[in-house]
Amino acid sequence: MNDDTKIKCPYCGTFVDKTEESCPLCSAPLKPTKPAKQQSKLLAPTAIAALVCGILSISLSSAIIPGFILSGIGKKKAQEGYDAIAANPDTYIGEGMLNAARITSKVGLILSIVWIPIVILYTIFYIWALNY
Ligand SMILES: [Zn+2]
Repeated sequence: MNDDTKIKCPYCGTFVDKTEESCPLCSAPLKPTKPAKQQSKLLAPTAIAALVCGILSISLSSAIIPGFILSGIGKKKAQEGYDAIAANPDTYIGEGMLNAARITSKVGLILSIVWIPIVILYTIFYIWALNY
């Protein structure tokens, strides 16, 4: 018996031709399952930038205009990240970070809007106090 062309099924012990992908008797897989794409996935390319913009948009919301700009960039970068993951789901991860970026961008936008009347009232009060 030439064992070079046969392998023993690890499940039922039958000698099976090496070219078989699975055991003809018990149908167990014979080829070692390919190390399931052990390439480590990459963070979506814009995820960090999106999150940084989102956080900065909150930090700078009291300056209003930078808050709006950074919120817009954060939202755009987050969408680009979602698109990258949707296009290459086997390559990219980072939806959690993109969600955080989207939320912080939204909060930054809301705070920037909230700050508008506060800054206006403060300015009016300041001018009034100067002239008093
Ligand atoms: Zn078998």
